Amino acid sequence: MMDVIIIGAGASGLVAAITAARRGKKVLILEKNNKVGKKLLATGNGRCNITNQRPIPERFYSQNPKFIRQVLEGYTYQTIKQFFKSIGLELIEAKEGKVFPMSLQAASVVDLLQFECEQLGAKIVCEAEVKKVESHKNGFMVYYAEEKIQSYKVVIATGHESAPQLGGTADGLQFAKPFGHHIINGFPTLVQLTSPMPHLKRLSGIKVEGRVTLRAGQQTIQKEGDILFTNYGISGLAILDISRFVMEQLIHTPIVTLELDLMPKMSREQLLALMKKSLDKKSQKPLSIWLQGFINKKLILPILEPLKLEKATVGSILSNVNQLETIADRIKHFPFNVNGSNGYKGAEVATGGIDTQEVNPQTMESLKQKGLYLAGELLDVDGDRGGFNLHFAWVCGLRAGKSV
Ligand SMILES: Cc1cc2nc3c(=O)[nH]c(=O)nc-3n(C[C@H](O)[C@H](O)[C@H](O)COP(=O)(O)OP(=O)(O)OC[C@H]3O[C@@H](n4cnc5c(N)ncnc54)[C@H](O)[C@@H]3O)c2cc1C
Repeated sequence: MMDVIIIGAGASGLVAAITAARRGKKVLILEKNNKVGKKLLATGNGRCNITNQRPIPERFYSQNPKFIRQVLEGYTYQTIKQFFKSIGLELIEAKEGKVFPMSLQAASVVDLLQFECEQLGAKIVCEAEVKKVESHKNGFMVYYAEEKIQSYKVVIATGHESAPQLGGTADGLQFAKPFGHHIINGFPTLVQLTSPMPHLKRLSGIKVEGRVTLRAGQQTIQKEGDILFTNYGISGLAILDISRFVMEQLIHTPIVTLELDLMPKMSREQLLALMKKSLDKKSQKPLSIWLQGFINKKLILPILEPLKLEKATVGSILSNVNQLETIADRIKHFPFNVNGSNGYKGAEVATGGIDTQEVNPQTMESLKQKGLYLAGELLDVDGDRGGFNLHFAWVCGLRAGKSV
């Protein structure tokens, strides 16, 4: 009979295990992959953006924002920093409040978490896919692989559907349902977007430092950073950042139009002034050549074609100030239609999950079933890119581990 069984050796599960084992609990962790922390190893492009210096509630999303505030309260960046110091991992701060392990290796995070678990006597069993959790006598029966085992408490820390190739599943949601939990439907987020636009093949591979705008009803959402055109649509950090809001719109409409500012460092007026200066009345230079003075060659046809200017020369548009303005407008507000995403396979995170109205934010204990705890991404909470999702997972792990 175990004191605690933790299902999932990911971010929240490992921290819950360490915290519970430090309190002298007999802990067993069941992980379906052949090693622990497989998703963690891929975080931050292998560098693990472990937390953020300003994990404010506004950077997280849920149908129940109060729960986020309550969970985060008292669990600051310093709390996480101290926890990692206690297992021997030093952290460094980077721009935008991002925090990384000093080694800049996600592998260090996993190795130190795993070592700490084992040193404390928390047993980790890999290739142990849990199939079912049942309440049993004064605890639970957990069915995994071909075996079953009893415990007083269970922490479900199985994450969510994002990145199934790294272990992402909706299993935890299925385990929680028979105990009376409700699931809030979700979608992939922090994900690349697909597009039905022409010219994708031509554009594929172009990367610009841009700004992307989404106008949704009264709301205008803007994100800045890399924009990467691909053969299926569009990616890059600015796109991942805006993807949650786009995916929300795509529930109601088949196509969403993004506005790309391909020259965000310059205002429309500055761009126009620059263009006007380089115009030469007598020039026979095709616009397609002239524009290469300002912008990536492959972007020129998609800019000019809808204006029917792909064959025009610099001289021919001089007489028409409007045409110059339209060109500048297309560079500053390039419309780009999107119709979907690369799905959970391409997503860093899944939105939705177990309804947080049914979870105690202090302890992460289910309000439906005593002794059952729910931690991490399987809850209806997701965060922005920048260390917020891991921050939430660590905090859940600490809270659950303290309470089990
Ligand atoms: C490519 C990528 C990069 C990311 N980069 C960052 C980043 O830099 N910073 C950041 O904050 N967030 C990042 N994230 C998000 C972050 O990794 C997750 O939000 C976080 O790991 C969630 O923690 P968790 O404990 O809920 O679940 P996970 O860490 O996903 O752990 C869940 C574990 O449960 C196991 N499991 C699932 N089902 C079962 C079952 N039936 N039986 C047994 N075990 C099971 C899984 O194999 C997994 O090991 C990234 C995600 C991805 C995919």
